[in-house]
Amino acid sequence: MLDSLVPTPQQQMILDNLMNGVYFINKNRDIIYGNPAAEHISGFKSEEILGKPCQDDVAHTASRDILRCEHCPLIDTMAKGNIVTLTANLRHKDGYCVPVQRRCVPLLDANQKIIGAVKIFERVGVQEDLNLQLKKLKQIAYFDSLTGIPNRRYVEELLKNWLQTYDKKNWPFAVAMGDIDFFKNVNDKYGHDAGDLVLKKVASTLRKHLRSLDIVGRWGGEEFLILMQNIRLKQLEKKIESLRKAIEESWVEDDGVKIKVTMSFGCTVPRKGDTPLSLVGRADDFLYKSKREGRNRFSMDDSE
Ligand code: GH3
Ligand code: MG
Ligand code: MG
Repeated sequence: MLDSLVPTPQQQMILDNLMNGVYFINKNRDIIYGNPAAEHISGFKSEEILGKPCQDDVAHTASRDILRCEHCPLIDTMAKGNIVTLTANLRHKDGYCVPVQRRCVPLLDANQKIIGAVKIFERVGVQEDLNLQLKKLKQIAYFDSLTGIPNRRYVEELLKNWLQTYDKKNWPFAVAMGDIDFFKNVNDKYGHDAGDLVLKKVASTLRKHLRSLDIVGRWGGEEFLILMQNIRLKQLEKKIESLRKAIEESWVEDDGVKIKVTMSFGCTVPRKGDTPLSLVGRADDFLYKSKREGRNRFSMDDSE
């Protein structure tokens, strides 16, 4: 019986080059053949597993982390000739579980008698895991963990791109630096957690009052940089005034206490030869003009 399960040289060549792991199992549920992909996925060399029962901790697949031989689909396959497909965990030689998609197919002799089974399996979830990890890394790299809006790195890169397009196509845009007024007092009076709530609220209020193509990022501490596409100074004035008002009218409640803040803004539009640094620097100068002149206001270029 064992001989009839050993692959012929031709079959062996195909099996050696498959991307799927393959085990041939006899009726005692001993592994009598494993291909190179099976070695790669399980970590077990063929010589370590040949002749060993497949329930003997080697190359075993199980639901979740638990070895559950009594539910092994091989039983069904060998008893009834059913082809069974399932997702399971294969225990790697190094002890961890590898999620696999597995199919058990009966092996029949010339008289259609079941003489064993083939387990065919492939790793699943690797690409999904990588995509998910990549997404998480991007989230960490480009988004502020407190407010969920883009961070400084993100807006700096965007600003560089927008400036390049502006240089080539004269594509209008504007930037505004917003800074919460007397924010230190909020922390001092209500505590740091309440301050965090205020930061979240300010971020969401700004986001809500901008168009979908505009970007607001957390520049640092209690400073927010806003990038607005396709806007000129006159419209910019209206837009920033609406943001200022929205912040002034919003509040957060902490332990039954209403906390309100205001924000000052400095705005500008690009000029030929601007770099991200010079552009943001100019917005910053206007922001400090607003602070000097009493806060809760905006200042901006008066000519394009
Ligand atoms: P001004 O009107 O001149 O801007 O005054 P200000 O108090 O807002 O400015 P200042 O720079 O003196 O204080 C900023 C405060 O922001 C100090 C710092 O502790 C606080 N801050 C920065 N980042 C965070 C944060 O993530 N959470 C909280 N709760 N506070 C923060
Ligand atoms: Mg401030
Ligand atoms: Mg500040």
